[in-house]
Amino acid sequence: MIKLNGVTKKYNIGMPNELTALNNINIEIKEGEMIAIMGTSGAGKSTLMHIIGCIDNSTEGSYFFGNTQINKLSEGRLSKFRNESIGILLQDFALLNDETALQNVLTPLYFNKTPLIKMKTTAREALAMVGVEELETQKVGTMSGGQKQRVALARALVNSPSIILADEPTGALDSKTADEIMGLLVDLNKKGVTVIIVTHDNKIAGYCKRIIEIADGIICIDRNLGDDCIVT
Ligand code: ADP
Ligand code: ADP
Repeated sequence: MIKLNGVTKKYNIGMPNELTALNNINIEIKEGEMIAIMGTSGAGKSTLMHIIGCIDNSTEGSYFFGNTQINKLSEGRLSKFRNESIGILLQDFALLNDETALQNVLTPLYFNKTPLIKMKTTAREALAMVGVEELETQKVGTMSGGQKQRVALARALVNSPSIILADEPTGALDSKTADEIMGLLVDLNKKGVTVIIVTHDNKIAGYCKRIIEIADGIICIDRNLGDDCIVT
């Protein structure tokens, strides 16, 4: 499904502070995997997630998502591809606090030319899927962290992406709420969605079947734990 070949990412190219954040990364990800990307701060986890999530481009190497060569797409095609194929979940939710849950979840749908009534049905289904349909008309700014992350997950899901990328999705949540969010991600994974989670938390990584650890921009561990190691 995803193939990174010799992916290198440099920042500040040609400047005195040039930095190689990722160095010759080779990864193959199959449909339906649930993966934790681990490593210390500054290791390159977010950079890797940004490249997989088509938010940023690599400096060298190739990136195939199915038959699409991502690193050859124009900016416009890249954002269309991202919107249609990838759901992103962040630690700080990145929601519009002054808007309602429904309005937030509708946002990715505005890119497609769907009638508003159909968009609303789709958005309500996404909210229901993560158990917050009753919060539809509530402004996000008034919600708890767990409710916000559920709304963010509904927004990530609304275009039925084949992959969800989550960067420290439980970093701002207490451990009980974190378990609930992880439960939702596990359920999605069971339905066939590929899930990739950036985390430095071993408990969160315990929900994943494959652990990829990065140090200084290089993959140092890539372990497949198999089904019997999943914590439920
Ligand atoms: P992690 O997510 O593992 O903490 P990052 O991918 O955020 O690591 O960062 C990897 C390295 O790249 C760090 O040294 C960081 O300072 C640097 N870096 C990340 N983003 C940028 C950027 N936009 N410009 C310059 N350097 C960056
Ligand atoms: P994370 O570890 O989750 O990436 P950071 O605080 O390291 O969080 O990064 C937040 C944002 O700042 C990211 O978009 C990253 O690309 C950018 N960034 C990180 N390090 C640098 C840097 N040295 N110079 C410029 N931007 C950076």
